[in-house]
Amino acid sequence: MNGAAFRVAVIGSGPSGAYAAQELSEQTDLDVSVDVYERLPVPFGLVRYGVAPDHQRIKSIVGLLADIFAHPRVRFLGNVQVGTDITVAELRQHYDAVVVACGASADRSLSIPGEDLPGVCSATDFVSWYSGHPDAAVDRFALTAEKAVVIGLGNVALDVARMLCRTPEELRRTDVPEHVVDVLANSSIREIVILGRRGPAYAKFSNKELGEFGELSDVRVQVDSGDLADDEDALRRAQENPLTRRMLATLRGYADSGPQGDRRTVRFAFSRTPVAFVGDDSVSGLEVVHQRPAKTAVEELIPAGFFVRSVGYRGLGVPGLPLDPRSGTIPHSEGRVVDGTEVLDGVYVTGWIKRGPSGVIGTNKQDAALTAAGILEDRKRATRPRQKTVVDPMDLLKERRVEFVEWPAWQRIDAAEEAEGRPVGRARVKLHERSRMLAAASAD
Ligand SMILES: Cc1cc2nc3c(=O)[nH]c(=O)nc-3n(C[C@H](O)[C@H](O)[C@H](O)COP(=O)(O)OP(=O)(O)OC[C@H]3O[C@@H](n4cnc5c(N)ncnc54)[C@H](O)[C@@H]3O)c2cc1C
Repeated sequence: MNGAAFRVAVIGSGPSGAYAAQELSEQTDLDVSVDVYERLPVPFGLVRYGVAPDHQRIKSIVGLLADIFAHPRVRFLGNVQVGTDITVAELRQHYDAVVVACGASADRSLSIPGEDLPGVCSATDFVSWYSGHPDAAVDRFALTAEKAVVIGLGNVALDVARMLCRTPEELRRTDVPEHVVDVLANSSIREIVILGRRGPAYAKFSNKELGEFGELSDVRVQVDSGDLADDEDALRRAQENPLTRRMLATLRGYADSGPQGDRRTVRFAFSRTPVAFVGDDSVSGLEVVHQRPAKTAVEELIPAGFFVRSVGYRGLGVPGLPLDPRSGTIPHSEGRVVDGTEVLDGVYVTGWIKRGPSGVIGTNKQDAALTAAGILEDRKRATRPRQKTVVDPMDLLKERRVEFVEWPAWQRIDAAEEAEGRPVGRARVKLHERSRMLAAASAD
């Protein structure tokens, strides 16, 4: 480890960790070095494993994040799980500041009967699988059902539904693993229902993502105009908010003369509260209560063999640090981690694990800047004694035989993914299994 004046450990290499590293390493009046610890052998967090594969323009932000990790004052240490391979207490001992940027990528459940039946999964599970996340088994999904239901009215629900509609040609323009292309291309799914508890005016998806359903190849899009009958609340909400107004106009367009096609049907079903999944060995349907605008509620059974619940994300935190189990975030005061009433000296938080799962990638940049400003302010006030022993935690990792992946090793994984694409005429094909990533990382 270099003898920088101020040494920072960042936990997590998603956008918030990257932006925190950037803010700190680019200080001109202070010599700061930043070590970024990442539990996966690869960087970029949910930009690599969340953002939909068919949104390559958004994913191209990895180019900018890569420049941050390649900065001479920044070290990337992949395949190191903080809490297992090295503890937060050890990081606090060896660094002047620790920034937790570990994200919030666990799912929330519906807490209704039948949720554990085979055929019901979380969006986290499904998105991780199609994104080739090493924690998702390669053969996790077979997609043999004819009808799928995605529960949730956010952009992630739309991502999942859209991925189930993509043609093999479109999928081959993404970087998803070949076996994912095969399963999605040979899927039996013909109908996809996007179902939510709330009415359309309260849907959280953006009009841009909603509009993409009108551009899918050979896909019929259906919205029941009865679901769009405005109640007073909805009308007021739509009038107040131009984004809601535009989103409702798109839904009305789909209800009036929705896109036509035979390959897949996408149907929006609003105001349905899930009550229970039914089925014996595997799921066969979902009981819902349909709250019809200006009418009495009715019970409905929605038959289907595949359900994806997309009702939110929560953080799990890092062992050794407090976590608010309800919000799934780390308690803090202006980015300084708080345990009970005590502000933990030298420990900071940023990104989804600080704010919860909201905002776009860029929101993490402003957030990281605020946290970094707090770190630099504390450093000026010197609330914490300067760490005297300069031990390089990399030596600890070596002693513990942790197979950590530094930036040049990630670049070898990156090159291996490009090479994987060439024989099949694709720009890149992701390596899915951790063992293959590590083999590529250590290749000559
Ligand atoms: C399915 C999905 C689609 C999305 N699509 C878009 C989109 O199209 N556009 C957009 O703007 N935003 C999108 N987002 C939101 C965006 O991805 C987030 O705003 C952003 O990734 C949050 O950044 P983060 O760094 O806080 O968390 P993350 O990106 O989750 O990064 C956290 C990192 O910490 C690592 N980590 C966790 N625990 C440890 C540990 N103990 N030790 C070491 N490392 C650890 C994780 O492996 C991960 O790499 C999407 C999110 C999801 C879930």
